[in-house]
Amino acid sequence: MPTPAKSHGRLNIEATRKPRALLQDTPDLAGAWKAKVLTLYPDMFPGILGHSLTGRALNEGLWGLEPIDIRMFARGKHRNVDDTPAGGGAGMVLRADVVGRAIDFADKGHSRADWPVVYLSPRGKPFTQAMARRFSEARGITLLCGRFEGVDERVLEARQVEEVSLGDFVLTGGEIAAQALIDATVRLLPKVLGNAESTEEESFSAGLLEHPQYTRPAEWEGRTIPDVLTSGHHGKVAAWRQEQSETITKARRPDLWEAYLKDKS
Ligand code: SAH
Repeated sequence: MPTPAKSHGRLNIEATRKPRALLQDTPDLAGAWKAKVLTLYPDMFPGILGHSLTGRALNEGLWGLEPIDIRMFARGKHRNVDDTPAGGGAGMVLRADVVGRAIDFADKGHSRADWPVVYLSPRGKPFTQAMARRFSEARGITLLCGRFEGVDERVLEARQVEEVSLGDFVLTGGEIAAQALIDATVRLLPKVLGNAESTEEESFSAGLLEHPQYTRPAEWEGRTIPDVLTSGHHGKVAAWRQEQSETITKARRPDLWEAYLKDKS
């Protein structure tokens, strides 16, 4: 039997290393937001999330991560996790029984009301900042990463799994999408960024794209920084940024601009 993947983050109790883990509830961190990730590739985690701000926050126990190997829930002589698609066609489909057991394992210890279960899928609702905010307000999240042709539809229906897409393109697996979703969610948790203001002013937070940013040197390749930003006049800086945000949003994302206008009226 393959060993379950190890947990990450200082507050994690290493109970999942033991075979007993299958018989008991996964211990949750002392109040910290946690992501349980159902994947065939637990070694892909924490991946990018182990670096920079999310990595530091993980080490400090501000959030927790528990990759769960879907293969642990395979049974029978061959321990198959996938099979050929009913009706024919290319590729393989993850089995409903195996994925169902994995979801039931991850579900233990909390209710769906404050612990959403999400399948990363190109057919899902497009991931947005508002979703990241909602997920960050839950106690944690369970993410199912597909591979091959995806997952048997019956388990998605029976376990009422929410489908979320990273965008209109097809990845080879859900792991990169899961890491992107976790990254966007974790940076909204208290204390992860340090400077809470930075999540209030950035793109999407007020329904607009962010204004341009500048830093030193004051002149680069003959290009200077807009005078207003070095004027020291906070009111004028704020007005300039608002105007830039509106101009950029109008030009690049007419859909966001329409929604912004509707929201304001
Ligand atoms: N046959 C499927 C694609 C499978 S891609 C289809 O046409 O819809 C294999 C896995 O990668 C999926 O199960 C999903 O978990 C992940 N994936 C692919 N594209 C994705 C996207 N845009 N957003 C989130 N997950 C994605």
